[in-house]
Amino acid sequence: MNKTRFYILLLSAGLMYLTGCPESQRKPPGPSPSSPPHEYHPQATDDPEAALWPFGWVPPKSVEDKSRWRGIIIHHSAIDSGNAADIDALHRQRGWDGIGYDFVIDNGKGGRDGTIEVGYRWKRQEKGAHCRPENCADNYWNEHTIGICLIGNLDKYSPTSSQWQSLQKLVRFLQERYQIPSKRIIGHRDVPGAKTTCPGRYVSLPRLRRDLSQGQ
Ligand SMILES: [Zn+2]
Repeated sequence: MNKTRFYILLLSAGLMYLTGCPESQRKPPGPSPSSPPHEYHPQATDDPEAALWPFGWVPPKSVEDKSRWRGIIIHHSAIDSGNAADIDALHRQRGWDGIGYDFVIDNGKGGRDGTIEVGYRWKRQEKGAHCRPENCADNYWNEHTIGICLIGNLDKYSPTSSQWQSLQKLVRFLQERYQIPSKRIIGHRDVPGAKTTCPGRYVSLPRLRRDLSQGQ
């Protein structure tokens, strides 16, 4: 890593702490010694449906419990650029297993605009590390909701139209596969006890639900 990039990451970490999702990062999950987090081990699928969707969206049947996922939480990265690998590195610097989100949607500054990246937690169907308010003793949100992070500081500007289209495509897939009603697609800030503006004031959940219902 060159010096400039190091300082950008350092600054990003500071910014995320101030404006991003600090309470979700207070209690990091413990390490899993048997499986280094940075080795993603994409598994050969055992579900024929996987061929219908982008790689990694359909988890292996051997680890998937369809009744587990009860909601979707939308986040932003609170920084202008980056991708899943950058967030993975940041989260590991904090002593986490690796990236806490299940999915990341790039904005063209660090990854191709609208690209949906799949995190290792989703591929293994492990609990997330994206939402744990102080008042949440049982870690419900990380255990039972799917975390999607839009790259960008969406307190300052809107997601790109490619990000918005990709978000809808992904959310539709997840809703259908796990029978998640629209009212359970929420922003991080909507979680009781969450002290954050995440996913940013330019992300409207009512608009997302409306666009989903209209098939836009
Ligand atoms: Zn968040």
